[in-house]
Amino acid sequence: MTLDSELSEELAEWRRGGLTRSLRALKESSGVHVLLDGRPVLSLGSNNYLGLANHPEVRAAAVACIERVGLGSGGARLTTGNYPEHGALERELADWQGTEDAMLFESGYAANIGVIPALLGRGDLILSDSLNHASLIDGCRLSRAEVRVYGHRDVETAAALLNDRAAFRRCAIVTDGVFSMDGDLAPLPELCTLAERQGAFLIVDDAHGGGVLGPEGAGTISLPGVDGRVAVRIGTMSKALGASGGFAAGSRALCEYLRHRARSFVYSTAPPPAVAAGALAALRLTRQGDALREKLHDNAEWLRSVFRLHGWTVPDGQTAIIPVMVGDAAAAVLASERLLAAGVLVPAIRPPTVPRGSARLRVTASAALTIADRIWIEKALNQL
Ligand SMILES: *Cc1c(COP(=O)(O)O)cnc(C)c1O
Repeated sequence: MTLDSELSEELAEWRRGGLTRSLRALKESSGVHVLLDGRPVLSLGSNNYLGLANHPEVRAAAVACIERVGLGSGGARLTTGNYPEHGALERELADWQGTEDAMLFESGYAANIGVIPALLGRGDLILSDSLNHASLIDGCRLSRAEVRVYGHRDVETAAALLNDRAAFRRCAIVTDGVFSMDGDLAPLPELCTLAERQGAFLIVDDAHGGGVLGPEGAGTISLPGVDGRVAVRIGTMSKALGASGGFAAGSRALCEYLRHRARSFVYSTAPPPAVAAGALAALRLTRQGDALREKLHDNAEWLRSVFRLHGWTVPDGQTAIIPVMVGDAAAAVLASERLLAAGVLVPAIRPPTVPRGSARLRVTASAALTIADRIWIEKALNQL
């Protein structure tokens, strides 16, 4: 049997189970209105929660930087790729997060697979929530520390898994701040208390909390009862900020250590300075964006209620992520296809991204949704 025939057989099996995926081309995106394969549709699946990806100030900052220095950075930050735009963004990120320092990565994914193995290794212990994002899981695996998975948001089980804490050198509890497929929050105050009692520390990935929750949109880690208690904050600029790139924020010692030891930082080309310039503009807009956040939360509440009114199962929530539960993978794909035929783009999320039997439509809210958009959405739901 050749490699190709082996792979084709596996692909055919995925196809039978409704698990294959394909790439669709978006063109002329302006926030929630996109041209998909030439047809105008309303996108309810993007992570551009505040609608900043197309903001004129963000565009202008990135374009001005490209005009000045071009596109690629030409090297890693530690060799020949370090530009003032990178440092300026890092200082603003630290100020936003209320930490001594912050450091930039190419993406949130790169941050997680760089930070976790830099801080933990053989002889260390990691506790990880069962619904953590794949990039956290990969970071844990790369670290070669002992990884123990606790049930989703289950602090009691996590505590029990720490009974032999003394047998390990370092211990970290690793969790999403806002879970990417369910939109629910980690029990951060309780996890902080557990970590403090056991001489452990927290690594929190707040990719979906940043820009959405907390003062100035600083995220779940800045909420009362948590602020100042999380040693390692991970975030991304590719979601609410509408830009691209990841970051870690924390103490000066932490960031200096990571600049030496995080392999995805040391051995990877620096992000284009224009991306950092655009992200800095987006971050400033995010910090001043209370009105945008108000619109976002109002639209999220409306979306939860309108899907429920049309007979769908939607859990309560307080973030921009709205899981519309379907169950069966093929049924979720069918629902997604029918919504698309009616002019609304919502991705179906299937295993292995979510546990078997919990396929869903992942609806996301945006501050950019208008009253006209709401009417369009209601019309689409009425056609199902
Ligand atoms: C999207 C996401 C990431 C990856 O961030 P990118 O910047 O897109 O690479 C990491 N963690 C979580 C929880 C995410 O949702």
